[in-house]
Amino acid sequence: MKAFENPLFHTVYGRNLIKGLVETVNPPYLIVTMPELWSKFKGEFDEKNVAYVHFAESLDIEDLENLIKNVPQVSSVIGIGGGRALDAAKFVSWRKNLPLFQVPTSTSVNAAFTHRTAVRIKNVVRYIGWAVPQVVYVDYDIIKSAPPHLNRAGVGDVFCIHTAHYDWRLATERGMEKTWPWDDELAAEAKKVLQSVRDNAIEVGKVSDAGIKVLMEAHRWTGASYHNSGWNPRPIEGCEHFFFYTLEYLTKKAYVHGEVVCMGIIFMSLLQGNDAEGIWRSIKDAKVRVKPEDIGEDWAMVERALKMTRKYSIENGLFYTTIHERDITDEIIKMGKELLYS
Ligand SMILES: [Zn+2]
Repeated sequence: MKAFENPLFHTVYGRNLIKGLVETVNPPYLIVTMPELWSKFKGEFDEKNVAYVHFAESLDIEDLENLIKNVPQVSSVIGIGGGRALDAAKFVSWRKNLPLFQVPTSTSVNAAFTHRTAVRIKNVVRYIGWAVPQVVYVDYDIIKSAPPHLNRAGVGDVFCIHTAHYDWRLATERGMEKTWPWDDELAAEAKKVLQSVRDNAIEVGKVSDAGIKVLMEAHRWTGASYHNSGWNPRPIEGCEHFFFYTLEYLTKKAYVHGEVVCMGIIFMSLLQGNDAEGIWRSIKDAKVRVKPEDIGEDWAMVERALKMTRKYSIENGLFYTTIHERDITDEIIKMGKELLYS
């Protein structure tokens, strides 16, 4: 598969990559991971080289600053995990100016390929910092040992290009996007990335090597493009994400990001009149869980979040999207439900 134009984020695909990593990274190092992953990978590391293991339970700015205060003297940082562990690893690498090695353990998010950490400041997500890993190691066997629904959920941060582009164009037409007006060239490149994953959605659903690689290459592009386009979030984020932020704000629950984003994509593409059936087919092919009962939520809360997304977006100063000018009606909710159960 042809990789997209992308000057950053040296990425290696293969097997047995942790074995190579422990012989590569300058010790002593800090490992940022999760408890269940550490019990799995602990045996591969030489204890004397591991100065400190931090379990990334939170991305709250105060917790991260506390971590910085408590980290002992180390020479490098290794992030092993999903979004939270990789984000916390980036934060330490940035604040302590340390070389970073990232090992994503699922394809669930693009955190391995973004420069900034998605910190929570008073419960609102802000992207701050700067970290470029020496290498991102994508180990097929590690990825395949993650729960399949986590891997499949990764399409959320790629399929959101579908709804985000509608918002981007709309905001430009309304004169509501002065910093990043619609850009044909950038939009076309993002569209190619979206299409590559849609074309391979069944492989993503199977969590095959091909599915893993196509999704990770898409993350590699979306992650880097945010910086490479001058911190332009428009090609890869729109009101489907605003729904996610609203639901998370309402319930304070930790969802699988891409599953809720995919749910947002379905409802927002209906709101936009933007080929909701087509993007639903891709989500279905990738076997992403999007029904509330499958993700530990109920319809009443989902409806509340959908109807509150506009208020949340305006109050938090989020950029102009479809949700700023159209209501999520009972009709839209009914259509979305019908689609989800089709
Ligand atoms: Zn996202």
